[in-house]
Amino acid sequence: MSKVVAVAAAILVAGALALADERPDQSVFWKIRQEGSANSRILATLHVLTDVYGPRLTGSPNLKAAGEWSLQQMRDWGLKNAHLEPWDFGHAGWLNERLVAHLVSPVKDALVVEALSWTPSTNGVARGAAVQIVLPPSPVMQADLTTYLDSVRSAVRGKIVLVGPHQAVPVTFNPVPLRREDADVQAQMSAVPAVAGPRGQGAGPDPSSPRPLTSNQVQEQVNQFLLANGALVRVNDAGRDHGQIRAFSNNTYDVSKAPATVVMRNEDYGRISRLLADKRSVELEFEIVNRTYPDGRTNYNAVAEIPGSDKADEVVMLGGHLDSWHAATGATDNGIGCAIMMEAARILTAIGVKPRRTIRVALWSGEEQGLLGSQAYVKQHFGNFEEPKAEYDKFAAYFNVDSGTGRVRGLTVFGPAAAGTVLREASASLKNLGVLGATTTRTRATGGTDSTSFNAAGLPGINTLLDPIQYQTYTWHTNLDTYERIVEEDVKQSAIVMAAMVYHLAMRDERLPRFAREDMPRPPREAPATPAPASTATGTRTN
Ligand SMILES: [Zn+2]
Repeated sequence: MSKVVAVAAAILVAGALALADERPDQSVFWKIRQEGSANSRILATLHVLTDVYGPRLTGSPNLKAAGEWSLQQMRDWGLKNAHLEPWDFGHAGWLNERLVAHLVSPVKDALVVEALSWTPSTNGVARGAAVQIVLPPSPVMQADLTTYLDSVRSAVRGKIVLVGPHQAVPVTFNPVPLRREDADVQAQMSAVPAVAGPRGQGAGPDPSSPRPLTSNQVQEQVNQFLLANGALVRVNDAGRDHGQIRAFSNNTYDVSKAPATVVMRNEDYGRISRLLADKRSVELEFEIVNRTYPDGRTNYNAVAEIPGSDKADEVVMLGGHLDSWHAATGATDNGIGCAIMMEAARILTAIGVKPRRTIRVALWSGEEQGLLGSQAYVKQHFGNFEEPKAEYDKFAAYFNVDSGTGRVRGLTVFGPAAAGTVLREASASLKNLGVLGATTTRTRATGGTDSTSFNAAGLPGINTLLDPIQYQTYTWHTNLDTYERIVEEDVKQSAIVMAAMVYHLAMRDERLPRFAREDMPRPPREAPATPAPASTATGTRTN
């Protein structure tokens, strides 16, 4: 045997041994599959979360009731220590109770709209002429916005004001695929993760020259202008096809800082815009009843556990956000993520496993307003790499589902390559359910979903890559996000995959590998020019 061949053989042997490191308990995996397929409660759970409690807007009584129901359900399944954990939202909750919108002249017809959250009610029935204002194109400077608003000041009093031009939404000739190709998923899972580059490089804009307004600043000023000048209702164009409406919030979360506001389907907005362009007088009528809930200043994450045994003080977490936007009942975003994780825990209790580590389900709130619930939880329980709390070293992993109804295709973990290897090997026997591997990320930037709250703290958050189905195209944050859009076979598979992966991480001898101290990426707010003092990074962490 030549030296080269001998070395190659040694590498092959080492590789084969490495591949054999993760040995999930296949008899338990088989029981998980049986239980998740034969006795699934996932659609029954989703039915209650959506049809009974939807929409579950942050700060609303619906959300709190959904959390309480979920906890009772998990208690009934045998989970322990089920409880709500409060965090401070700082704003009252809000819900729409009644919404009626009509075109009354020059022709009578109903209009399709959704209320913008954290905006006020109309004063009874608001009936008035429609006018349209078209702001200067962005980026807009303060002087230009002021000049424009002054020019339309006399036009809005007592009127229903369409803000912005009608957006032309072209026909889509190339339909978006519902599923990911295997090769596409495999390529993504085997890509080398990018190293987060330094931030804050470059000269940046000259601080002495005037900066354009941010879009939030523009919207706040337009709202102030409409309020101060007596507009009855503000109307925004949904700008999407087939009647889809995405309605978010008044960014101040203060109903006194905006007029009554609706988002109108693009087709109705277009019709009214064209009638106005003809110089026809158009009259509209709205009745909007919104309610605020001062108790909503305190929000709750819902948490329940399967207690561990010899490693009970270590925890493997799984969760999703229970809060939703309000235009529909929040099925794909993200009642289903919660139903999947609850179902994974139900499967594990039903088959009677005794995990070594504690398995903890967390249903978050405030995700849609900026991952607020999960960030509060991570801060309170774990701290972060730079300032860890005692539980920091007891944390094994957090699994997250929050991308719709598609089945799980891959996993992305914040951590070193070894963490990806563990997940890849552990999920290898789940390939026929669609899971094709795992990859890693090094970024501690928050955004997107709750797993990044863990990543930001330097903890191994694991997000799931799902088949897209109709998520970005139809259901995400829209008025179409309902129970009907759930693909039963996919979500049952996802619950089986989550149960199996959580169980394996709760059983293996070591926690999921983490970044070594010297390899831990910096949090994004720390630019390279201002590194954290070494003593902070190394001095306080217990080991
Ligand atoms: Zn979501």
